[in-house]
Amino acid sequence: MVRTPKVALIGRTNVGKSSLFNRMVEEQKSLVSSVAGTTRDRFEADCIWRAEVMRLVDTGGLNVDRADEIEKNIVEQATIAIEESDLIFFVVDMMVGPTADDREIAKLLFAKKKPVIVLGNKADTVTLRARVDGDDWRSWPLPRPVPVSAKQGTGVGDVLDIAREKLLEIGMPPQPVSNVATMRVAVLGEPNVGKSTLLNSLLGTRRFITADMAHTTREPNDAPFEHNEKNYLFIDTAGIRKQSSIKNSGAHLELQGVERTLKILERTDVALFVLDVKQGITAQDKHLAGILADAGVSVVIVANKWDLVEQKTPTMITEVERYMRSLLPHLKYAPIVFVSALSGQRTKTLFDCIDKAFQARFIHLPDAEMKTFISRVIMKHKPSRGKGVKHPKILSFNQIATNPPTFLLKVNLSRKDSLADSYLRFVENVLREEYTFEGTPIRIRIAATRKSHTTYGG
Ligand code: GDP
Repeated sequence: MVRTPKVALIGRTNVGKSSLFNRMVEEQKSLVSSVAGTTRDRFEADCIWRAEVMRLVDTGGLNVDRADEIEKNIVEQATIAIEESDLIFFVVDMMVGPTADDREIAKLLFAKKKPVIVLGNKADTVTLRARVDGDDWRSWPLPRPVPVSAKQGTGVGDVLDIAREKLLEIGMPPQPVSNVATMRVAVLGEPNVGKSTLLNSLLGTRRFITADMAHTTREPNDAPFEHNEKNYLFIDTAGIRKQSSIKNSGAHLELQGVERTLKILERTDVALFVLDVKQGITAQDKHLAGILADAGVSVVIVANKWDLVEQKTPTMITEVERYMRSLLPHLKYAPIVFVSALSGQRTKTLFDCIDKAFQARFIHLPDAEMKTFISRVIMKHKPSRGKGVKHPKILSFNQIATNPPTFLLKVNLSRKDSLADSYLRFVENVLREEYTFEGTPIRIRIAATRKSHTTYGG
């Protein structure tokens, strides 16, 4: 199995290593705990950038109090960091400029011939950023610093892009996030659609007991599982089934069922939404579809019991798919896989769908690319009016978050205008055509230059 590359942050104390470290891992806080092998140690964490993972190590400061010990300590600590990592982020302070300590470390790194990126931190202003071209850094054995600001977050993406290139160059590429993280999967659906049978087929054991009746899954237990060197955690969902399918359930229990589902979805990355093709789509299925869409989890629709469909024709899958799509409009991003949990037909392809849907959650599209993207979108189709008379003017479009991918569309609207929902759907559709977001929801938020803020969830 390929190893996740290690990147060490080294530098004097106070140059802002920890702040940079936090910047680089902050977006993924919720995921960090689910990454296999991640320690609770605050000095090591996985940095996810463009759906790929590198392991960041913060080495602490390299200063000492007494001058005679400077060299010894620098050499000792830096040597360990260097030896254990594939790439070095050497952090310097743009406000201070290169110090004697910095030069010592630079010499050492140069001698070691380890790939190094110099990060010029605290470059909060244009003037400070421009200092990287100054004479200070001329008699310097390493490349000039790349200006960054841990405080503002500027330049961090550029550094991670450069790091990615370097790691590819040395044959230690960052790992796709689906190779590194544990993907948490919940199997959801109505009683008797075949959830337990599907789990048996996927996990290849009889740990989930099936029978010809509902309520057969006992002892709620999450099941960790490895397949093709990837890690999954199948979340036990017996609880919801028990709650929601008890006879005379009434409004109260129904509500508990929803609450339990929401609890499960809080710790779910990808939901396998199981349907019984013989039974068709019920009101409950539609309800669950809405809950899944709102929760922002990724979804794969499993059209089960395909073996029971008699006299299949070549166009049948397309027809059934069209029928399902028309009744589940909230989940248009979810792929539909036709399986037989009982015979195992096509069930193993679900792992691939899970990986892809999970991976898509961490796609991060750069600002520059989104700038040309949105101008192309506008060329194809001018923003339509909701209410009002003028065409709203789009000011910018950026991706502001991952897991799930979230975008911000800034528009200029006169007081009476609004942006039509259909336009947001159009933007989402083009995003989906151009990038591989299959299985994952996309959020587009609107920031209007007027007071109102609305959210559109896809
Ligand atoms: P759950 O309540 O959703 O967990 O459903 P179970 O896994 O307990 O399955 C309910 C019934 O459907 C059992 O009798 C299974 O054998 C049957 N079943 C499940 N999947 C399939 C399938 O793909 N084809 C057929 N023919 N029967 C299935």
